[in-house]
Amino acid sequence: MSHLDLSFDPANCLIGGKWVRPASGEMLPLYDPSYGTEICHIARGSSKDIDAAVAAARAALDGEWGRMTAAERGRILARIGQLVLENIDHLARLEAADVGKPLKQARADAIALARYLEFYAGAADKIHGETIPYLDGYTVYTLREPHGVTGHIVPWNYPMQIIGRSVTAALTMGNACVLKPAEEACLTALVFGDLAQQAGLPDGALNIVPGLGAEAGAALSQHPGIDHVSFTGSVGVGKQIQIAAAQNLVPVTLELGGKSPQLVFDDADLDAALPFLVNAGIQNAGQTCSASSRILVQRGVYDQVCAAMAKSYEALQVGPAIDDFDIGPLISRRQKAIVDGFVDKGSDLNLIAKGKLSAEAAEGGNFVVPRLFADVDPHHTLAQDEIFGPVQVVIPFDDEAQAIKIANGTDYGLVASVWTRDGARQMRLAKALDSGQVFVNNYGAGGGVELPFGGSGKSGHGREKGFEALYSFSRLKTVAAYHG
Ligand code: NAP
Ligand code: MG
Repeated sequence: MSHLDLSFDPANCLIGGKWVRPASGEMLPLYDPSYGTEICHIARGSSKDIDAAVAAARAALDGEWGRMTAAERGRILARIGQLVLENIDHLARLEAADVGKPLKQARADAIALARYLEFYAGAADKIHGETIPYLDGYTVYTLREPHGVTGHIVPWNYPMQIIGRSVTAALTMGNACVLKPAEEACLTALVFGDLAQQAGLPDGALNIVPGLGAEAGAALSQHPGIDHVSFTGSVGVGKQIQIAAAQNLVPVTLELGGKSPQLVFDDADLDAALPFLVNAGIQNAGQTCSASSRILVQRGVYDQVCAAMAKSYEALQVGPAIDDFDIGPLISRRQKAIVDGFVDKGSDLNLIAKGKLSAEAAEGGNFVVPRLFADVDPHHTLAQDEIFGPVQVVIPFDDEAQAIKIANGTDYGLVASVWTRDGARQMRLAKALDSGQVFVNNYGAGGGVELPFGGSGKSGHGREKGFEALYSFSRLKTVAAYHG
């Protein structure tokens, strides 16, 4: 059974300020991953809808939206943020049903979306160019201008947070957006569109075209009318997005996940570390780009850390999102099959603990109990590849040099954390770790919207969040005036 109060028609696209059926009239079913039941139907957008959305965005740039001052844009973003705060429960329940996200996490995501809107609302009129001292007779200055029409392809794991970090930052800088939410989870994206309209966002500044990645998503990334593409998702699709953008010579931001390590040294405060070691791996059932799936532990505390993590794992309960268990279902049968496949590949490994399936876990739900493997060879597939499920590996190390080698020894570079009381080691490791973010004696720092985020290697490139996103979602023009 699905506990969902759908107070709006989810089968539409938002194009030019109007909620319209997709040109083909075709629909896609949306499922509740906790029960496997159908929730509703959403639009199966196609290239025709993307064409219309890009045209509407261009018209918005030529119209009211393009003429609006930065302060006015900020005021609208603040109003959307206020409406998000007033709708936290509604958004959280939709997300719980759509994504299978435990309610507490779904609420946190809605609050994060509001925080992005608050942060960027305040920043809108505080981004400016510079004057540059130059030759006699010249005045030189720079202008920050929007790219124009920006495309946003969003995955199913954190719809609200990723809309917050990409779409709201793009709107702040005056871009007009076309958003393609994930086919498997797009209800909160549609509510976001509705709230943006209620807040007075001009028609066409935000357009939303749900649909399949290979149809609506590909059409968006290939569209010659798009000036910038922001993509979060898998490595394989990320490559296709970059190839498509190359055909149009437009910039892309790619956020493609990771294999993020936490390094625990003998002198670490283990009581402080323990909750982070486990939670960073199992949050959102491990379906988190910045999940910490590798725990590297120095030999002196190795047995102690393994035992403490195993105890935490045995207490973890898996069940329906609405009942707010520690871990909900995976998004889809397909994702469950991927994760089960990795677990099978770990059959030769030392499985030291498992979580429990709750009595409430329904037959049709995509549940996977969390698993903790110890003594894992750093080259094993479970220590190298992104699993995107509730599976962590523990790897022992002897000294700092070996820890750095193992930590940097994957193709990814998104997040890393170091647990040590030695200040000099904290500084050395912050520099040595190949990672877009490094945390010292914590993991994730609460996910603050202020903190620039992005990776290197297979984790992608470009930065979102914080002020950095506002630079990514704008371009710099240099004006040199000769006046003698
Ligand atoms: P995915 O296919 O990369 O999906 C991400 C987004 O891209 C979705 O909106 C998807 O639409 C769209 N898309 C798919 N094919 C496309 C194409 N050819 N052109 C343009 N857009 C396209 O990811 P997934 O298949 O859902 O997940 C598979 C794996 O990707 C996971 O196991 C995980 O390892 C990784 N992943 C990482 C993140 C992250 O946060 N970095 C997020 C999700 C997944 P549809 O959903 O409608 O197909
Ligand atoms: Mg769903």
